[in-house]
Amino acid sequence: MEKVKKKPLFELEEKTPSIYSYQLEELKNWLITNGEKGFRAEQIFEWLYEKRGSSFDEMTNLSKALREKLTDAFQITTLKTIIKQTSSDGTIKFLFELQDGYSIETVLMRHDYGCSVCVTTQVGCRIGCTFCASTLGGLKRHLKAGEIVAQVVQVQKALDETEERVSSVVIMGIGEPFDNYKQMLAFLRIINHDKGLNIGARHITVSTSGIIPKIYQFADEKMQINFAVSLHAPNNDLRTQLMPINRAYQLPELIKAIKYYTETTGRRVSIEYGLFGKVNDQVEHAEELAELLKGIHCHVNLIPVNYVPERNYVRTPRNQIFLFEKTLKRHGINVTIRREQGHDIDAACGQLRAKERKDETR
Ligand code: SAH
Repeated sequence: MEKVKKKPLFELEEKTPSIYSYQLEELKNWLITNGEKGFRAEQIFEWLYEKRGSSFDEMTNLSKALREKLTDAFQITTLKTIIKQTSSDGTIKFLFELQDGYSIETVLMRHDYGCSVCVTTQVGCRIGCTFCASTLGGLKRHLKAGEIVAQVVQVQKALDETEERVSSVVIMGIGEPFDNYKQMLAFLRIINHDKGLNIGARHITVSTSGIIPKIYQFADEKMQINFAVSLHAPNNDLRTQLMPINRAYQLPELIKAIKYYTETTGRRVSIEYGLFGKVNDQVEHAEELAELLKGIHCHVNLIPVNYVPERNYVRTPRNQIFLFEKTLKRHGINVTIRREQGHDIDAACGQLRAKERKDETR
């Protein structure tokens, strides 16, 4: 008989779930089911997200019996810091260890408008973009919402020492957020909630490599969140060469999905375009890109390629970057060049993990 190969589930097996995975309403329901008053959920959220408590015992306005119930049912996830690299520009990169020993990266960036955290949504990634360090070694597992929330809480705790606040969050770390859609959405709702971390929707950005059905679904959520698509190529063939996901979800269909998104939400989409030396960075590429994006409510973000030792791409010379930008502008496209931060540390997603955890990324 032929052996049926078991499909991996890519899920964390947890004995006690993280309380950070719970949305306020879900926690209310849990409390009511367990014979408690629903409003306790707000008190618990306050302890978790305002006071940033690390044990249920501290929650002194809850009865001892409830504190014991909570201790039995949940854990308050803490991520073990394996490495903390600080850049001269204030960027801090964390390599955190999860409870099953896998590692993830989280980055804190300091801008003049505040502090922003870049979070990871999966251990590894299965999208296979040819230029990206996060996909080396494939996908190990999805993160639970609570493990994504814990990254923000942990960075906020580090910022508490200098009385700074996380004012924005970008889902641009390791992983494809739309490949872990449900947990990602729960994460968004928890950090956005005014009783949670209270990070405004307009201060949250999610980026996808282009999982088309999920773009439609996300548009229909009608959240006021910033949305970015990693496009990286002005035509179908080149995109397939750079991003194998383009075989399943091709560029013309992706453009339709982007249009649906802008029309449904009324919001502008960010187009991420990495410049890979001599591959997609010529004037003719810029012209083709301008034609492709004509009439779409969007903004192009040019990303000079980050060197990844395992990958072969080279950087585009500065004057060529400016020429690319100028060409887009001439065609009426909104464009900026991404400011690079943390250049003296391994700040591009997946780089630190790839270097430190060779066993996980092979
Ligand atoms: N998986 C999602 C979220 C990651 S966001 C996505 O693809 O959008 C991280 C961004 O950095 C993506 O736009 C990704 O394509 C880009 N990126 C990855 N490796 C890079 C590299 N070596 N140089 C420049 N940009 C890179």
